[in-house]
Amino acid sequence: MLNKKLTIRTDGDQVLRKIAKTVLVDEIKSKDFQKLCSDLAVCMFDNNGIGIAAPQVGKSIRLIVINAKDEALVMINPEITKHSLIKEWGEEGCLSVPLTFGDVKRFKKVKCVFINPAGKKESIEASGLMARVIQHEIDHLNGELFIDKAKKVKKIQIPADN
Ligand code: ZN
Repeated sequence: MLNKKLTIRTDGDQVLRKIAKTVLVDEIKSKDFQKLCSDLAVCMFDNNGIGIAAPQVGKSIRLIVINAKDEALVMINPEITKHSLIKEWGEEGCLSVPLTFGDVKRFKKVKCVFINPAGKKESIEASGLMARVIQHEIDHLNGELFIDKAKKVKKIQIPADN
């Protein structure tokens, strides 16, 4: 079987604007789904991402992967159930919006419940960058991109002869 690499969809692709579908618990154990989880993690690391959401590779389902200390944390149907009152600004970029950065206000701390690839319910509490990444990736599941709410958006220019 041809092992086709996942390709990153970029801003303008309609899949990035859809509300992603909830993953059915029965689907999780299937070979195809397990492969998608690992392919998505590989895709994130290959592109030096700190997080990735399934719609970014054209799959409109509620699945995200976070780079947690160089390990892939796969989160299925993630949901923020608690968050700090305090929000903070921080710079973000996105694999789907190449060479673009901007400041986004996010909750400082979040509690997120999700299903892991073994089909078990889990929850994590995250703060700082990790909390930011989780919020950014969940936005992707709701058809939102960081540039929708970012301030001081800047595009990095790459010299033509580089
Ligand atoms: Zn993104």
